[in-house]
Amino acid sequence: MTLLEVNNLKITYETSEKDIHAVNDVSFSIGEQDNYGLVGESGCGKSTIAKTILGLLDDNGKVQSGSVQFKDRELVDLSENEWQDVRWEEISYIPQSAMDSLDPVMTVGAQIRQAIRKHKDVSKADADERVAEVFEIVGLDPARTSDYPHEFSGGMRQRVTIAMALALDPDLIIADEPTTGLDVIVQDKIIDKLLEIQDEVDSSMLLITHDVGVVAETCDEVSVLYGGKVMEQGATHDVFTNPTNPYTMGLQNAFPEVDEFDEQAISIPGSLPDLTAEPSGCVFRNRCPFSTTECEDGHPPLTANGGQLSACYYPEDVDTMREAATDPDT
Ligand code: ATP
Ligand code: MG
Repeated sequence: MTLLEVNNLKITYETSEKDIHAVNDVSFSIGEQDNYGLVGESGCGKSTIAKTILGLLDDNGKVQSGSVQFKDRELVDLSENEWQDVRWEEISYIPQSAMDSLDPVMTVGAQIRQAIRKHKDVSKADADERVAEVFEIVGLDPARTSDYPHEFSGGMRQRVTIAMALALDPDLIIADEPTTGLDVIVQDKIIDKLLEIQDEVDSSMLLITHDVGVVAETCDEVSVLYGGKVMEQGATHDVFTNPTNPYTMGLQNAFPEVDEFDEQAISIPGSLPDLTAEPSGCVFRNRCPFSTTECEDGHPPLTANGGQLSACYYPEDVDTMREAATDPDT
């Protein structure tokens, strides 16, 4: 069963100069109990999509077209009142910066209890019981619910925000770069914890990151984004073991030894596409080793290649490159 369906989403930000076309015709869907990844470099539109699904788009942002269906309900254009019933209770959020999202003058237990009682008519004792429960799920000592945010380390604070996201037993949890800013060992621990939680709770998860490895470890399906466009989409295993798009290959940096191809394909030099206009050709063409004038004729449509979908006019070249990279005789 589909839980969330994003269809042809286009989002722009109004600025004093030109509009920014941050998300350009993005579609994907998340099934019940699925873990879905959105991956791509900084500025490709990941957080813009997340904020739209949560009804938290910045004031200058506008959904130009498209739809976000959650359990058959359209979320685009809900009123703030209607959002109150959806946010936290049905779709919750693990923010990037745990410190900024916690209230420094309130104990962490009281914050989670308050969030629960704002949405559910339960006694203080029942809410506290749930707080202790979610503390245990994320591997925190329930005795520490009476501590303040500053009494926790960065990784522990991130666990508190994960506990908060779980508190109301939502159907979908959106985690926007949940490990960014933490040191590597703590990052690994948070990922392990997320994996355990995925096993333990029935919620679906939308995990947003620039880290291909994190998605490969935690997600069933993935969309690879660039310049507000989906470049490749499908089962995580297919997309990362058998990439069919030059951008995915470059992002993953998996084939540094292939020297009969332009090395530039690997490190992806060059700058991000100009988002002040709607894309007029393939958004990746300026950085792509395979691009020709054909790539100026509009962004390539997503087409089936292998088990996944890929937006590229030259899928055969990518296949050749991948095969050369994986064949030990070449
Ligand atoms: P990161 O990995 O750095 O978090 P991201 O993929 O989440 O990046 P977004 O934050 O969605 O990217 O931004 C997409 C584009 O929209 C970027 O070019 C960004 O500069 C621009 N943008 C984001 N928010 C605004 C805003 N409020 N006003 C104008 N432009 C914005
Ligand atoms: Mg972001």
